[in-house]
Amino acid sequence: MVKVKDLTLPELKEFVTSLGFEPYRAKQIAQWLYKKRVSSFDQMTNLSKEARKLLSEKAQIDLLKLVKVEESKDGTRKYLFELEDGSRIESVFIPEKDWNTLCVSTQVGCPAGCRFCLTAKDGFTRNLTAGEIVDQYIQVQRDVGENRRISNVVFMGMGEPLLNFDNVKKAVEIMTHRDMLDLSTRKVTVSTVGIVPGIDRMAKEMNKVKLAVSLHATTDEVRNMLVPLNRKYPIGEIMAALRRYPADNNRRIMIEYVMLKGVNDSLEDARRLVKLVKGIPVKVNLIPFNPYPGAEFEPTPREQIEAFQKVLWDHNIAAFIRDSRGQDISAACGMLRIKEKACSA
Ligand code: SAH
Repeated sequence: MVKVKDLTLPELKEFVTSLGFEPYRAKQIAQWLYKKRVSSFDQMTNLSKEARKLLSEKAQIDLLKLVKVEESKDGTRKYLFELEDGSRIESVFIPEKDWNTLCVSTQVGCPAGCRFCLTAKDGFTRNLTAGEIVDQYIQVQRDVGENRRISNVVFMGMGEPLLNFDNVKKAVEIMTHRDMLDLSTRKVTVSTVGIVPGIDRMAKEMNKVKLAVSLHATTDEVRNMLVPLNRKYPIGEIMAALRRYPADNNRRIMIEYVMLKGVNDSLEDARRLVKLVKGIPVKVNLIPFNPYPGAEFEPTPREQIEAFQKVLWDHNIAAFIRDSRGQDISAACGMLRIKEKACSA
């Protein structure tokens, strides 16, 4: 079976011509898949009956099965999906006043092993295909309804996007192509733990979308402890990659920094962070740690996060405190999947 959501438009063209259709049929099919978001070839009424039959024999549309949705008091909706091999992944829909954001997963589990992250505790199973990434968007959009259009996509769910580069790149292509999901490239953000070769590749092949880097520490000693991959790609090398990255004040790199009480949240850390990002067009996002049962860390108190933020602003670095959304439904990375496991165990 060909999984049509894995295909870019040129690939879809190739596929339909291999079935003996005219190439222009690819755009028609793309319209049904990405604008009308149908789930069967039978609904593609501008194709002949025979064409629809042939397509349903050769190809498949939906790749994810919705297992569970939870809605938070603040409107955040968390989705648990099952893949064909039985693996489970999560996506989170975050409504804002003027736009809606979807957080997508890129892998089943994650190989990065960050010590504060719940997804890491469960190890790594496999990469998601491009279609499985794209299908998260389509299924959530179907569920929330077309009057709540998802305008922004963040690759901040389970997994490390730059360790699944090819499929992420393809998913971004499908999401931003005007005949497909047609999202603005500036509204797509890829977040990485700091895979240096991946950042360099992104600079060449995917630099229209936004880059976010999960820094979380200002010394290699602390970062080695929090983010084991730091031994391979230490802070100095990551900052060097960011200096080579094509960014400017209109297209800033986002630095993510999870605030962990007594670990990385001192004013000295703030001052070191100022030095690290000097000369790089960045925006810093201070993320309150989202605790979970058994976590080794505690969240930094709000006043301390604000004091940290002030040091950054005093040095003209844009710094924002990300509000924690969907806390009552455990919307942090990996939490729903683990909860379901615990309940069904
Ligand atoms: N692997 C990518 C994207 C997934 S994680 C990356 O590391 O950037 C998305 C963000 O959520 C990262 O910045 C991650 O460090 C953060 N995160 C993970 N667990 C968290 C928790 N319990 N509380 C707050 N932020 C968390």
